[in-house]
Amino acid sequence: MKLIFLGAPGAGKGTLAARISAALAIPAISTGDIIREAIKSGSELGLEFKRYTDQGMLVPDQLVVALLEERLAQPDCAEGFILDGFPRTIEQAEYLDRSSFGIDRVINIEVDDELVIARLSGRRFCPNCKAIYHIVNTKPQVEGVCDHCKTALAIRADDNIDTIKHRLEVYHAQSEPLVRYYKDKLLPVDGTRELEEKVQQILDGLQA
Ligand code: AMP
Repeated sequence: MKLIFLGAPGAGKGTLAARISAALAIPAISTGDIIREAIKSGSELGLEFKRYTDQGMLVPDQLVVALLEERLAQPDCAEGFILDGFPRTIEQAEYLDRSSFGIDRVINIEVDDELVIARLSGRRFCPNCKAIYHIVNTKPQVEGVCDHCKTALAIRADDNIDTIKHRLEVYHAQSEPLVRYYKDKLLPVDGTRELEEKVQQILDGLQA
């Protein structure tokens, strides 16, 4: 099963991808996570990525494609995978079409901009295990500490209000056209529903 998760930043792609990954036993691959790891490593490439991510801009297609190719060549992707945050442009989708990775279904998580702003401005994440929290909606048991691995939670550098607004503009201009591009494979999900309902809807939709 080869899946793509589409949706605005903050739609809940990462959380849902993690749940569907566990249910189907296929890896969830987040290009955003791979990029953040490269930035954390302090490599030259990482520094270049940071220039884009800090401003809420997309990293150039050829650089992201190279990272993704490397990740998809790993043995754990042989039986399938979930792409979370890729493709983000029509050019990236065309790359996938040219490659040998046939995509089965595309899940589109629908949320409006107001909800995105509320979610992202309160988002916290675990830099170690990548678990995601929210200061109001999904609090950790101990404030500021990851429930799973006890690491101190952090705020993403791009989760500040100006960058969030810019990321939304970039989403509408460059990524939203992908919904039409994939219309024949699309499984729409109402992103405002409860997490368990969304998980069930996706699993049911994939079986239909
Ligand atoms: P995300 O964690 O998916 O919100 O991604 C964080 C940031 O990484 C984005 O704002 C972009 O700067 C960059 N990024 C992630 N995935 C892609 C992609 N497929 N194409 C270009 N830039 C990306």
